[in-house]
Amino acid sequence: MSDATYDVIIIGGGPAGMTAGLYASRACLKTLMLEKMLIGGQMMTTTLVENWPGYPGGIAGPALMGKFQEHCVEFGLETDYGTVEKIIDNGTSKTLIVDGKEMHCTVVIIATGVIPRKLGVPGEEALVGRGISYCATCDGAFFKNVPIAVIGGGDTAAEEALFLTHFSSKVTLVHRRDQLRATKILHKRIALNEKIEMAWNSVVESVTSDNTGLTGAVLRDTLTGETRPIELHGMFIAVGVTPTTGFVADLLEITEDGYIQAGEDTCTSVPGIFAAGDCRTTLLKQVSTAVGDGAVAAMMAERYIEDLKHADK
Ligand code: NAP
Repeated sequence: MSDATYDVIIIGGGPAGMTAGLYASRACLKTLMLEKMLIGGQMMTTTLVENWPGYPGGIAGPALMGKFQEHCVEFGLETDYGTVEKIIDNGTSKTLIVDGKEMHCTVVIIATGVIPRKLGVPGEEALVGRGISYCATCDGAFFKNVPIAVIGGGDTAAEEALFLTHFSSKVTLVHRRDQLRATKILHKRIALNEKIEMAWNSVVESVTSDNTGLTGAVLRDTLTGETRPIELHGMFIAVGVTPTTGFVADLLEITEDGYIQAGEDTCTSVPGIFAAGDCRTTLLKQVSTAVGDGAVAAMMAERYIEDLKHADK
């Protein structure tokens, strides 16, 4: 793997990476998609995708990603697993350090997406896997007929709260304001679901546990400052996401909150490196926008490689 030379290396195997891979392979560019762990990205932890066109009634995230992967293979996209530690810009070529080994290519497309943000309460880390989770699809079934809480007010929190009502006896949705950030259609579903209780204007002050794991939390009212304990066996944290861009922080222009500075053309501050999907400064973070980005990045890669060929003549 270390002496392979590619036209394009795509870092990240979510919707943006796979679409870039499909387009680049179809354009007959020698393309490799590198994934750290699981092809499909965040979608692999998404129960139901309701807003991907063409699937009335929705489709499970992993099923959709399976279709994406199948489609990429059809055009000959190579995939491999590895963690990119660093990108070195040599001008017209790039060197990637992947698990300590070098790989070489002309263009890099970064499609590393985002990971769930931590809440930051004391004890949180020690209770991961013992009551605290960042993925309802993965861990929801462990919490049958017990009270749980979901923290956050965005689409993820709302969707997770609804999903978790299939298992738990009661879901307290803890949000720091008095209105959800989530898409309007979810507000109504939450309001109508008898198993969901809203804790408006509330934040988690602390968590309690014993040797079995999480036992509860103390919520603080953000308006009055009053605190109250709640009994919990599970807590699903959905307070936003952090882009996976640390490995290029010294190379590319990055925003204060860690996103790669790149416009709709996916061009980063370094020629020959493009950023697609949730890891760049996008207006909207959806499968559909990631897919659009992946297509644009592959087209930009093709143009960049063509321009280099003409510059050589
Ligand atoms: P998000 O939209 O950024 O929402 C994060 C939520 O967590 C917000 O309600 C925020 O409160 C709250 N929050 C942030 N920090 C907090 C803290 N320290 N303590 C308590 N609460 C905190 O994140 P997301 O829901 O993960 O969604 C990420 C992106 O993916 C969004 O663009 C979303 O639309 C998209 N997404 C789409 C779908 C879908 O279309 N089906 C599904 C999932 C995600 P405030 O509201 O007060 O800021």
